[in-house]
Amino acid sequence: MPTKDSERVARAVEMAKKAHEGQFRKTGEPYIIHPMAVKKILEEWGMDEDTIIAGILHDTVEDTDLTLADIKKEFGESVAFLVDGVTKLSTARTGMRDIDTYLPETRDNFLRLMIALGDDIRVLIIKLADRLHNLRTLSALPPDKQKKIAKETLEVFAPLADRLNMGLLRVEMADLSFKYVDPKRYDYLKDLIEKYNKSAEKSLKRIEEEISEAFKKEKIKFTLSGRVKSVYSLHKKLAKHNQNINEIYDLIALRVIVDDITDCYLALGIIHSLYTPMGGRIKDYIAMPKQNGYQSLHTTVITKDKRVVEFQIRTKEMHEYAERGLAASFYYNEQKVTENYKKGKIEHLPTNLLWITELQMTAAKLREGKKVDYKKLKLNLFADKIFVYTPKGDIIDLPKGSLPLDFAYRLHSEIGDHVIGVKINGKMSNLNKKLEQGDIVEILTSKNQTPKTSWLDKIITSHARQKLMHRLNADKK
Ligand code: MN
Repeated sequence: MPTKDSERVARAVEMAKKAHEGQFRKTGEPYIIHPMAVKKILEEWGMDEDTIIAGILHDTVEDTDLTLADIKKEFGESVAFLVDGVTKLSTARTGMRDIDTYLPETRDNFLRLMIALGDDIRVLIIKLADRLHNLRTLSALPPDKQKKIAKETLEVFAPLADRLNMGLLRVEMADLSFKYVDPKRYDYLKDLIEKYNKSAEKSLKRIEEEISEAFKKEKIKFTLSGRVKSVYSLHKKLAKHNQNINEIYDLIALRVIVDDITDCYLALGIIHSLYTPMGGRIKDYIAMPKQNGYQSLHTTVITKDKRVVEFQIRTKEMHEYAERGLAASFYYNEQKVTENYKKGKIEHLPTNLLWITELQMTAAKLREGKKVDYKKLKLNLFADKIFVYTPKGDIIDLPKGSLPLDFAYRLHSEIGDHVIGVKINGKMSNLNKKLEQGDIVEILTSKNQTPKTSWLDKIITSHARQKLMHRLNADKK
C-alpha cells in the first residue's frame, strides 16, 4: 500500500475536492469524505492506480459539473472508462432491484449492468468499495432508506463479493446489512454465537494443542486460527436446517494454513488420524475449486469430547485469495493485469472464473449492437439463481430449483392463488416441473381456482410459501 499519494492520485484528490465543494453527506460531513474513504478501501484492497483514481472521482460525473471529457483529458482513457462504468452501474443498480418489482425497463437496466461489468471488472470493485463505505455510514440515513439499501446489499452486492471470492468483504457487507434488515434477529444470533464460542473455548484450546503437537511431530509448518461464523451466514444456514442449530456443523471452524499443497493433504491425514471424520463432509476444493476460485480442503470431525468441528486447510496463497478474492490477484499481478486488460485478456484469473470471460464476451456483443439470444444468455454471476422470462420477455430471477408456483407467486399473489396450469416454453407442463435457466413461463389462471394445501409441496421459495400460507390461513377462518 502506498504511504504517500503519487502525483496523479494527489491531482485526482484535488480535482474531486474542487468538484464536490459545498456538497454535504447525510452525516453532515463534507461530501469529499466519501470518495476519500473509497480511495482508502481500494488502497487497502491493493488495487492499481487507475482504479484508485477512478474511485476518487467515482461520483463526480453523476453529481458535479465535471464531465467524462474532463477526466479523460486529465487522467487518460482508462480512468474515464472506469468512472463511466461506475456511473452506468449506479443507474443499472436500480434495475437489479426492479427485477423484483417487475418493471418493464428491467431488461434495459440489466443490459446496462452487463455492459458496465463486461467492460472491466474493476468497475465492479469500485462499486463494491463505494457500497461498503455507504453501508458503514448507513446510520445517518432515515430507517426506511437504511432498510432498502441494506436489503439491496444482501441481495445483490454481498453475492457479488462472493462471486469475486472477496470473503472478508462479503462477511462485512452481509453482517452490516443484516443488522439493519432484521435487528432483533441479528442481536439474537450474535448473542447465540458468542455463547456458543464461550462454551467451546476450552475444548477448542485442547484441539489446538493436540493438532499443534501432531503437526510438529510431522514437521509441518502451520498457523492455526479459529473462525467465527458470521451472523448472516448462520441465519441462512438455520433457515435451511429448520432452525436446528445441531445440524450446523461449521459453527466452530478451525483454519489450518500451511506452506504448500502437499502439506494440505498431509494435514488432512493427520487430522483424520486424531479425530473421527464425519462421512460425506470431506470436500476437496483444491482439486475442484469452487466457481469463484475458492480453494481449501474442508473436513468435519468429531473430537474426543464429542464436539463437531470443521477444519479448513489451505496454503497462504489460497487463504489470501479466499479473503480478498479478485482484488488479491490485482495486488500480486498488478503489472500483468494492467497489460492484460489493455490486451483484453484476463489470464490471471483462476481458470474457473470463466463467467467473467463469458460476461465480457456477451457485453462486447451487445456493445457492437449484435443480437444476443436471451434464452442462451448464461449469467453465471448468480450461480445459485436462474433467470426465467414471462411471455412478454420480462426477466424474473428465482433460486435454482424453483417451481412454477414460486414463479407465479413472485409475479403477484393474485396470480399465485389462481393457478390452474403452466406452459413452459409454449408447452403444457405441470406444477412439479423445475424451472430452468432461460425458460419462458406462462401461468394459466382461473378466477374460480382456490389455493390448495398440497401446493405447499410444490413450492421452494419462502416468499411463495408465506403468501400461500397467508391465504390458506385466511380461507380457514
Ligand atoms: Mn459514491
